Amino acid sequence: MYVRGVGPRVAELLAAKGIQTAEDLLYHLPFRYEDRQNPRSLDELKPGETASVIAEVRGAALLRTRRMPLFEITVGQGRLALKCIWFNATYLNGKFHAGQTVALYGKVEPSRSSSNLKMIQPQFELLPDASDDAETRLLEVGRITPVYESLGGSRLASRWQRKVIFHLLEGMRGAAPECLPREMLSRLELPGREQALREAHFPPEGTPLVHLQSAATPAHRRLIFEELFFLELGLELKRRKMRRRVGIAFATSDKVREAIREVLPFHPTAAQKRALAEIVSDMRQPHPMRRLLQGDVGSGKTIVALQAMIVAMENGYQTALMAPTEILATQHFLAARKLLERSSRKPRIALLTGSLDDDRKRRARGQINRGEAQLVIGTHALIEEKVEFDRLGLVVVDEQHRFGVLQRFKLMKKPNQPEPDVLVMTATPIPRTLALSLYGDLDVSILDELPPGRTPIVTRRVADERAGEVWDFVRREVAKKRQAYIVYPVIEGSKEDQPELDFSRDDPESGIEKPSQPSKRRGSRGKTAELFPGSAQEASPGAKSGLKSATEMYEKLSAGPLAGLRVALLHGRLDADEKEIAMRRFQRGEIDVLVATTVIEVGVDVPNATVMVIEHAERFGLAQLHQLRGRVGRGAARSYCILVTGERVTPQGEERLNAMVRTQDGFELAELDLAQRGPGEFFGTRQAGLPDFRVANLVRDRQLLELAKVEAERFANANGTGAGNGREGTDAERARVWARLKEAWQRRYGLVEAG
Ligand code: ADP
Ligand code: MG
Repeated sequence: MYVRGVGPRVAELLAAKGIQTAEDLLYHLPFRYEDRQNPRSLDELKPGETASVIAEVRGAALLRTRRMPLFEITVGQGRLALKCIWFNATYLNGKFHAGQTVALYGKVEPSRSSSNLKMIQPQFELLPDASDDAETRLLEVGRITPVYESLGGSRLASRWQRKVIFHLLEGMRGAAPECLPREMLSRLELPGREQALREAHFPPEGTPLVHLQSAATPAHRRLIFEELFFLELGLELKRRKMRRRVGIAFATSDKVREAIREVLPFHPTAAQKRALAEIVSDMRQPHPMRRLLQGDVGSGKTIVALQAMIVAMENGYQTALMAPTEILATQHFLAARKLLERSSRKPRIALLTGSLDDDRKRRARGQINRGEAQLVIGTHALIEEKVEFDRLGLVVVDEQHRFGVLQRFKLMKKPNQPEPDVLVMTATPIPRTLALSLYGDLDVSILDELPPGRTPIVTRRVADERAGEVWDFVRREVAKKRQAYIVYPVIEGSKEDQPELDFSRDDPESGIEKPSQPSKRRGSRGKTAELFPGSAQEASPGAKSGLKSATEMYEKLSAGPLAGLRVALLHGRLDADEKEIAMRRFQRGEIDVLVATTVIEVGVDVPNATVMVIEHAERFGLAQLHQLRGRVGRGAARSYCILVTGERVTPQGEERLNAMVRTQDGFELAELDLAQRGPGEFFGTRQAGLPDFRVANLVRDRQLLELAKVEAERFANANGTGAGNGREGTDAERARVWARLKEAWQRRYGLVEAG
């Protein structure tokens, strides 16, 4: 399609921003709006607020201070004036002239030198005057004006987009194809597509600005609903398709129940019982299970999974448990072995991880292939090493945030066998409604209850200087026969700031960033990854060099403050044996203090450990802090989480630390995490194979997500395989929905299978 203003060079720039078609451009909505019809008066401005104003340029000057050049302009309305300052902005010199009208957007600050207010580094736009053409004036002033994120420097900034989008909209007046049935739209009281696009870009006079800014106008709601509807419809179809695939119908008999009872070391909680019932009911179905088991740290997911695995084994099938790290795989291996010792059947358990020596790997592969190993525990090596199971019945993926892997289980079974059931366990406490809507192709079970007898963990924040007191405290706890973890953000040295990265070894394609390229994670929403906090925005170069590392502190602590205690070091770069030994000795109580990196973040379970010290706590993300804290408080004794912080803590860091001290509720923390990082980072959408949205925002638009899910189910029910009742819309409309679905999924999700 020919678009005025878009030649080959511009098209290239746009493509770099993911804008390939005219439609992509139309769905690039303004990120804010300025009311240039009723502009604010300068005397209404209050220090602290973020405001947009229109005023006349009075004067401009480039000031050379000792530290940097400052560019300053003064703007006014009548007798009122406002000063604006930009740092290092030599490039602005000559851009402003007295008498011009300028629109400014920024935070209003009190000015020290005078009673006037000022703005530091505001966004600005020079407004057209009588010498500009009528169209420019029409789009820029005297209306609610859209402001866009630039699609390429100043050339493709707001002004350019307004024009191009205006022409696109004019060009398709009355001809834009609708992709949702009219009946649905009128039932939901949503406007048509063309009207919605037009009004989201060029809001009609009188549209309340607050509605625009919060994307709550009917136009916005329609476009957001549309996007979420096609997401949900696609997920719904995937789920239906899964139900049609051939799986294994496991049987549950008294014999199976007895096999479970034999090994259960305690009474399951009501939540565990409920979850297991849901899982087993799936397993009995003749189609493959795809279920997510979600529960906060310590809620007891592992035992639920093991019970499901026993069901599969009792049916004569092999099962596999896949953990994200070798440490965790090893721990599961040891725990499963201990648990199943009580089983009268004594299933054979095999461990397979990437860094086992070739001999052990070969042996494990053979046992798995010949069906001699009934329970296989491993890392991604299970997929990478091309292990072919003899009779695979159930795969459990622990702490798995990367769902792309789901597709690859097919590799693990022999070609002519039915698909295994899959259970994914996650400790990311996603609010239930979000989980249900998002993982539309997974069913969800939630453990919302902790096993009895846990004492709340005491969480304290301590400044760096008082570390001495922390070590004394650790000594006192050890004297009481307890154990402690001390966690650092990096493995060694400050040269390269190596965050712990155990996954990467096993799975080079995991999509997890290497520390050397932190900038890739800066999404279009301007959020920075917290997976390796401090790697980009939060750390100033000065702060980095002062970073304590696990290796260095292990030496220091064992020689100094913790001398005489049995201290060990654990991080992802040790080889598998070393990790296993350290973990095993800590588990047996042969080590008092484990100095570690975040390798111990997930899953590690040593109930006798009562102290978790996290150094540089301000640098960790909230999910990580919560996971780390979850390593203690697993026994009956009182446990402590001590957050040691440096002097420079960002406001966001403060918020995280305060939240940690305030609450232990994973869901509450998840809400804050979600708010801080934005949905893209929070869900790790790229890893999860979920889309980056064009207009929707999962935090802001939860209600619409719910609505979209309901509507998608309704649509799929009514228009599925020939069922005539409740049909909505005409045949042509339905055909357009399906066509659009295919298109949306191909474009956004790269999957063709949705249709
Ligand atoms: P999660 O993986 O969900 O973080 P785990 O499965 O590691 O939690 O369980 C945490 C701890 O609680 C383990 O020590 C486990 O043995 C114990 N546990 C699990 N379920 C129960 C229960 N019903 N009663 C008592 N202890 C339990
Ligand atoms: Mg676990």
